[in-house]
Amino acid sequence: MDATPKSSRIAGFHKLDIAGRIDSVARFAQLDAAEKAHLADTGNLPPELADHMIENVVGTLNIPVGIATNLRIDGCDRLVPMATEESSVVAAVCNAARQCYDSGGFTTSMSGMLMIAQVQLTGVSDPQHARLRILEREAEIRELCNACDPVLVRLGGGFRELEVRVIDTIAGPMVIVHLIVDTRDAMGANAVNTMAERLAPHLAQWTGATSRLRILSNLADRRVARARCTWKLADIGGESVRDGMLAAYHFAEADPYRAATHNKGIMNGISAVVLATGNDTRAVEAGAHAYAARKGRYGSLSTWEASADGDLVGVLEMPMAVGLIGGATRVHPTARLALKILGVDTAEQLARVIVAVGLAQNFSAMKALATSGIQKGHMALHAQNIAMMAGATGPEVDLLARVLVAKGSVRMDTAEAELAALRAATAGGT
Ligand code: NAD
Repeated sequence: MDATPKSSRIAGFHKLDIAGRIDSVARFAQLDAAEKAHLADTGNLPPELADHMIENVVGTLNIPVGIATNLRIDGCDRLVPMATEESSVVAAVCNAARQCYDSGGFTTSMSGMLMIAQVQLTGVSDPQHARLRILEREAEIRELCNACDPVLVRLGGGFRELEVRVIDTIAGPMVIVHLIVDTRDAMGANAVNTMAERLAPHLAQWTGATSRLRILSNLADRRVARARCTWKLADIGGESVRDGMLAAYHFAEADPYRAATHNKGIMNGISAVVLATGNDTRAVEAGAHAYAARKGRYGSLSTWEASADGDLVGVLEMPMAVGLIGGATRVHPTARLALKILGVDTAEQLARVIVAVGLAQNFSAMKALATSGIQKGHMALHAQNIAMMAGATGPEVDLLARVLVAKGSVRMDTAEAELAALRAATAGGT
């Protein structure tokens, strides 16, 4: 063992090129030549691009991109790229979409395309009075904000509305200013953050307050995407399936422990499209969960009912701050391609497609849970993952996965034993 203590204090690491950083990490973690070569292979993301996207780059992480088929959204058929490491996610969307394709697919809409930036003002002795003093300056505030982003204004976006709230905190009242901005085809974080930072000193001056945080809110409740869909009773397997699914929804709505997993299922679909299109998964996830708790208790993002005809009707509404421009959307070549495959022309269309995918994902998860259980559908692909983890390669993967499923034991220990048996049988020529 190396006697020199390892140090994570690597002066100038960020100034090295990718090869230099790989060498440095290799010394620290005793990586061999093959491991270094693996890191250096950045696949279809050119290294110089990756190096500009984030800091201290040493490699890239490839995640499979699958295509969700069967989706008809607002009368338009779409192929939807999904980037995910989780098996069954893409298949679940395809299945749900197939079961409602003939009855019209998904109908979507959007509450608006507005982002909120917050400015925090503390130390105001007369918060209610200050609130009105700020509101009276709306015209000036509009001008200051719009001057930050002439491109956005030229495209029809920019400042739309001013909101000033007085909130109670453990440190006393605070004045919170909301700048409400139409960010058009951008997610808009940078756009609105710039406005908040530009405005803050003025707000402080007008109120005598100390301006502190200046940043967007990910609870983008002025940018809520909605999808609804009808699944015909006959297409989903009848009343008992429908009632099981409704019971699953009622459980999620009543119990945060269940709601977290119910919403995680929705996010399986949402985050996969958000990631494939180069958008910010954490921004959308933060918005989703905050929205799910908007009634004071965490609940289901979706609602499910039986229609007058007895069909199953689902609705999903959630903040969807995604863009076609900004962030990695235009920079990452795979994200650009994903947007081309999707064929969306506006950020609003993208948001609406994504929320339809979320609803489809939710349908499939609830249906599986209410009928055969989630593991059955997962097993075939999961078995392949376990087979690979046990060391299977090439044609062995499929072969071993089938053995594991047939034995009803998709476990590492079984996989290792079966792989050994398989190889012994092959070596023995049987
Ligand atoms: P951006 O600043 O890269 O691009 C947006 C800008 O592009 C606009 O301000 C405008 O000037 C210009 N533009 C050109 N054509 C446009 C069009 N058709 N529609 C709208 N604008 C157009 O991107 P952004 O969307 O402001 O910021 C997104 C990035 O911010 C993401 O990478 C996100 O990860 C990051 N971010 C997120 C958070 C958060 O969510 N809390 C915080 C900080 C940064």
